[in-house]
Amino acid sequence: GFITLEGSEGVGKTTNMTFVCDYLAAQGLEVVRTREPGGAPRAESIRALLLDPSNDEPLDDCAELLLVFAARAQHLSQVVRPAMARGAIVVCDRFTDATYAYQGAARGMPSAWIDQLRGLVHPALTPDITFLLDMPVADAANRVAARGGQTDRFEQERAAFFEQVRQGYLSLAAQEPGRVKVIDAARSLKAIEQDIMTHLDRLIPS
Ligand code: C5P
Ligand code: MG
Repeated sequence: GFITLEGSEGVGKTTNMTFVCDYLAAQGLEVVRTREPGGAPRAESIRALLLDPSNDEPLDDCAELLLVFAARAQHLSQVVRPAMARGAIVVCDRFTDATYAYQGAARGMPSAWIDQLRGLVHPALTPDITFLLDMPVADAANRVAARGGQTDRFEQERAAFFEQVRQGYLSLAAQEPGRVKVIDAARSLKAIEQDIMTHLDRLIPS
C-alpha cells in the first residue's frame, strides 16, 4: 500500500501524517513513514540543496524539477519499493502531485515534462490514495506565521505562488477524484480525522 499526503504550507500535513500512521499501525499494519523531497540519506542531501535558505544563487526551475525527481528515484529504490515489497504500508509526506503543483502550476514547468519524468522514474507506481489538505492561502499563511514561519526559501515566496500551488493541487483532484481526496483542512482536527478515517476504512477493510 502507498498513501500520500499533499497540500501547501501550513495546512496541517505533519499533524495528519501522524494521525494516518498511528491509525494504520493500531490495526497491526507495518507502517513506513517517510517524506519527499528526501526520505533516504542521498535524497535528503538533495532536499538540502533544494531548500537551503542561505544560498542566494537562484535555483534554475529546470534544475529544481530534475533535482526533485532525482531525489524521488533514490527514495523509491532505497525506501518505498523495498517497504512495499515486504507488504508494509508506505505513508509519504508529498509525492509527484507536489511536483505538478509546485514545479508545474507554480513555477511554470510544462506538465508534459513532468509526465515524462514520472514515466522515467515511476512508470507503474501511483498512490492508492492521496489526501489533499486544502484551505484558503491566507489562513494557511497565518498558521505558518504562528509557528514561526519563513523557514526555507520556498516559504519566503509570496501568497500568489501559494495560490498557484493550491489551484494546481485542486485541478489534480478534479482529474483524479477516485484517488485524490480533498480534505477541508480549515475545520477542526476531529472533523478532519473523521474524514480521513472514513477513507482509510474503505481502503483497508479490517
Ligand atoms: O513538505 P515540506 O513543507 O517539508 O516541504 C518543504 C518545502 O519544499 C516546502 O516549502 C515546499 O513548498 C517545497 N517543495 C517544493 N516542491 C516539491 C516539494 C516540496 O517546492 N516538489
Ligand atoms: Mg513545511
